[in-house]
Amino acid sequence: MHPTDFTLRGALDALGEGIVSSEELTKAHLDAIRALNPRLNAYVTVTEEAALAAARASDDRRRNGVAGPLEGIPLAIKDLFCTAGTRTTAGSKILDSFVPPYESTVTANLLRDGAVFLGKVNLDEFAMGSSNTTSAYGPVENPWSRANDPDARLVPGGSSGGSAAAVAARLALGATATDTGGSIRQPAAFCGIAGIKPTYGRCSRFGIVAFASSLDQAGPVARTVEDCAILLQSMSGYDPKDSTSAEVPVPDFQAACARGVKGLRIGVPKEYRLDGMAPEIEALWQQGLQWLREAGAETVEITLPHTKYALPTYYIVAPAEASSNLARYDGVRFGLRVAEKDSDLRDLYERTRAAGFGAEVRRRIMIGTYVLSAGYYDAYYLKAQKVRALIRRDFEEAWAKVDAIVTPATPSAAFGMDEKQDDPVTMYLNDVFTVTANLAGLPGLAVPAGLDGQGLPLGLQVIGRAFDEETVFAVGNVLEDSAGFTALPRVRAGA
Ligand code: GLN
Repeated sequence: MHPTDFTLRGALDALGEGIVSSEELTKAHLDAIRALNPRLNAYVTVTEEAALAAARASDDRRRNGVAGPLEGIPLAIKDLFCTAGTRTTAGSKILDSFVPPYESTVTANLLRDGAVFLGKVNLDEFAMGSSNTTSAYGPVENPWSRANDPDARLVPGGSSGGSAAAVAARLALGATATDTGGSIRQPAAFCGIAGIKPTYGRCSRFGIVAFASSLDQAGPVARTVEDCAILLQSMSGYDPKDSTSAEVPVPDFQAACARGVKGLRIGVPKEYRLDGMAPEIEALWQQGLQWLREAGAETVEITLPHTKYALPTYYIVAPAEASSNLARYDGVRFGLRVAEKDSDLRDLYERTRAAGFGAEVRRRIMIGTYVLSAGYYDAYYLKAQKVRALIRRDFEEAWAKVDAIVTPATPSAAFGMDEKQDDPVTMYLNDVFTVTANLAGLPGLAVPAGLDGQGLPLGLQVIGRAFDEETVFAVGNVLEDSAGFTALPRVRAGA
């Protein structure tokens, strides 16, 4: 077996039994990155020497009988998490030279537990996008391809496209990601892997470059549901450095995976049945519900009546918060500075921001400042906040009847790099099934569940009550077991 083929759980067992060392695992992944990254462009920065040193230190700790829960596991880190001493770009030119002096809480938690960081992975600029085509460091290629057109280059989804592509192609055993409107679940689904956005507040946002603070959450992507549970366990927890981080106990997520679904009531929201959705996705959804019934759950049709307003609401709230968060990139304190000899302060701001931000980020800033401006605030931003409350209430009413909700993860499989690029609204439609969980702050898990007619992966989504990731993992695990998803991407290490 090629060392990059281990699941994270399998690698932990093999490390524990002395079958493989962290140094061997890390080297195998670095070799794979060297071979495949020129094509996939998943990694923006590879920290080869630091990774090898960390792996050797980890092997020493294990020999001395002190092994953390992630001891020796090579991971990829989305380049939105600040890593002390390692460049953190957020996929933007404006942070091209930014080397954070501190570590994000989530990555610090992973390091505390023994993980080894291979490097920083690509993303849409400031996590704005659904295709990883807005990165200043070039697009990421999906390691999967269409059976009838293997040369067409497909997107990995976004914004965590580098995280998902790296894990699918076996360039890491798992990765950190973030999800503001779907950026963990959609790329996971496009790349045939699992990914969970936990409840808002479950993971600290300290040290994660902010996009939309009331929606942003960190979470893991990995090749199995159980691997996601192991990673989330380490990433989670209260952090006094993030005032929105929740002071609640972190349960045993891995144990929850094996709970089963006997007696659970699974909600099926009728509003998620979209006109024109691929029949394969509808069929997979029905299949998933059948699997859950066979495992002892009951499925119940529910209604989430404000779903149709979720996308317009998200695309007001997220840009509004983004325009405010991005005001800090002014050429004075962080990264890029562009000025002429006679530039005054305003000219410095304008030149820096015009040169540093890409088109999508500028679009979001303009939408955001527009919906927040005097005269439009009530009509757009305030209205969106009210609708957000109604969307949240839809879910609260649903939880009286069901324990979890199952939907498709995305309305399509991965698309071509040149598709959906002309009209931003077409791109925004990707998020139709995922943004609701962010607006309501709920956990959502994507599980690979089948293939479309072209051999591309399709995912199902499990949404749960706030802070009930355990049920989400239990349902996801049954879907994963029943689907028996074993298909592999064409581009991968060890192939
Ligand atoms: N695709 C969505 C957007 O562009 C969500 C991105 C995200 O979750 N970071 O805003």
